[in-house]
Amino acid sequence: MSAITLDNVSKRYGDVHALRPLSVEFPAGKLSTIFGKSGSGKTTLLSVIAGLLKPTTGAIWYQDKDIAALTKDECAALRRTDIGVVFQDHNIINELTVLENVRLPLEANGMSRTAAITASEQALAKVSIGHLGRRFPAEISGGERQRVGIARAIAGTRTVLLADEPSGALDSENSTKLFELLHQLTQEGSTVLCVTHDPLAIQYSDQVFSMDAGVLSLISHHDISQTYDFLR
Ligand code: ADP
Ligand code: MG
Repeated sequence: MSAITLDNVSKRYGDVHALRPLSVEFPAGKLSTIFGKSGSGKTTLLSVIAGLLKPTTGAIWYQDKDIAALTKDECAALRRTDIGVVFQDHNIINELTVLENVRLPLEANGMSRTAAITASEQALAKVSIGHLGRRFPAEISGGERQRVGIARAIAGTRTVLLADEPSGALDSENSTKLFELLHQLTQEGSTVLCVTHDPLAIQYSDQVFSMDAGVLSLISHHDISQTYDFLR
């Protein structure tokens, strides 16, 4: 259980300032959500935190590590043990069962088969689809497939979840369930950071940000209802 703290983080792609210098903390046990137009820098932000992309400046503190200073291999190891990532097109493999989709990455990372099965069953149970492990992705709903992606991202020892527009493909009932689930993960101590367009997220969030042209701003409680109206 640890916060993620950014200190003066920025990212440029050539002349494009995708992220302006930014210092912020995403606390453990809290759901932080980020709203923002397409191209505003949201995916870039999640990618630098996940260690998938090196920031141009700054440090990203997690426990006693600066993620920005880790090697590619160290970042990959951190994603296996601590930081899970889930994207809208959750990369579920259709030829594998639900359980295998969660289990095989753990085994590929050196976990024993027995331990991987146990960890996968626990992760599927956490996202309330423990009964669907033997099904194939084509045999479950879109909302359930999104849960498989989340189970895969939180399986094992990971306690940080970075979610990039996870409700993009869901109807409002499944979106509500998804945000309830993200909130529930924070109750267990996880640090959850979610990029979304869905105003449903607001009522489940502990802190709400907007991203505009690479600038991240905290939206005060006072302004959230206005933002909510704006987003509807
Ligand atoms: P969002 O996720 O909010 O839609 P992105 O983080 O994907 O925004 O992109 C932020 C800005 O950086 C955009 O202007 C985008 O065109 C640019 N960008 C993203 N990835 C790259 C890249 N690999 N090379 C150059 N520019 C990029
Ligand atoms: Mg994006």
